[in-house]
Amino acid sequence: MTIDHERLATVFTTLCEIDSPPKQEGRVAAYLRSLFTDMGAEVHEDDSASQTGSDCGNLFVRFPDGGLDKDPVFFNCHMDTVLPATGVKVKREGEIFSSVGDTVLGSDDKAGIAALIEVMRTLQEKNIPYGPVEYIFTTCEEIGLLGVKALDPSSIKAKIGYALDSSGINRVIVGAPAANRITAKIKGIAAHAGLSPEKGISAIHLAAKAIARLKLGKLDRESTANIGLIEGGTATNIIPESVTVHGEVRSHTLSKLEEYIQEIKSVFQEEVDNWTDTESIVDGKPSLDFRVIEDYPVMKLDKESAVIKRVEEAAGSLAEELDYVVAGGGSDANIFNSFGLQCAILSTGMDKVHSTRETIKLSDMALTADLVLAIVT
Ligand SMILES: [Zn+2]
Repeated sequence: MTIDHERLATVFTTLCEIDSPPKQEGRVAAYLRSLFTDMGAEVHEDDSASQTGSDCGNLFVRFPDGGLDKDPVFFNCHMDTVLPATGVKVKREGEIFSSVGDTVLGSDDKAGIAALIEVMRTLQEKNIPYGPVEYIFTTCEEIGLLGVKALDPSSIKAKIGYALDSSGINRVIVGAPAANRITAKIKGIAAHAGLSPEKGISAIHLAAKAIARLKLGKLDRESTANIGLIEGGTATNIIPESVTVHGEVRSHTLSKLEEYIQEIKSVFQEEVDNWTDTESIVDGKPSLDFRVIEDYPVMKLDKESAVIKRVEEAAGSLAEELDYVVAGGGSDANIFNSFGLQCAILSTGMDKVHSTRETIKLSDMALTADLVLAIVT
């Protein structure tokens, strides 16, 4: 065992207690910049802040020469955490870390950052040769992968990498779905609901009929759909003139994603087109404005790809067995893969993330560091 568990615990606690909600990663970035500069790294912050609205850019940390001739590899963690994230205080009971209860802990994703710091400290301290390594710390992952989407992939030297950003132990995420967000805006006609309802077209009624016909939830083995937000209407005594329905569709296969979205669109379109004014009283017709926004692209890694072979070999050297799984959500790794960089996601041991009950066990975090160390050596 080469990783210093207590030092890892200290740096992890320090990181968690530097608040970093999305768009406010600046203090963590400054901490990392100074820490890695002191360790002799090339540190560079990009100019993505103007696009993301964060108080800092993505941070690139390079250790180009560790004395070992190996293919370069990058590791990625996001610096932001979900809310509530103000005034984080870490509680430690034995091996288990949690927050004191009123905020998240932030092990998502600071466990990964702490592991990366400890790996480099260990390599340097014990003079262990390692191959070229890049650490990429992104902003605004939790609010739509904004940081990674704004970074310039040509500034990354390595062709393969790992995002340390999954719960579980010894888990490798090899696939994640693509996701698209949809909005269906229906326009009807407003009228007084008591005096002249026959002159109106209820946008809410049309939307409700469409939604009732949609196939939602799990659509097949690898696809899901959800309507998550409805906004519309102004008062109970007014026939609602407009309603906007927000939803999403995810699939591990792009053609299915497109197919399901077309299906949803046609259901809304049919309800709008099928509206009839039997008594010819209404002055107008309803209309639909349907939009699709690409949230993130699909990620699918081959068992024979360089990125999977390298982590498999590293785990073998530690006599650890890896679990290869497919995720249900998107993360920075989806975007790295879309840049043409093979990027798998590794577990860090974090648990019950995105809640104030989030925990992590020190030995699990150290296991992540062991694996990273094996990958670079
Ligand atoms: Zn995360």
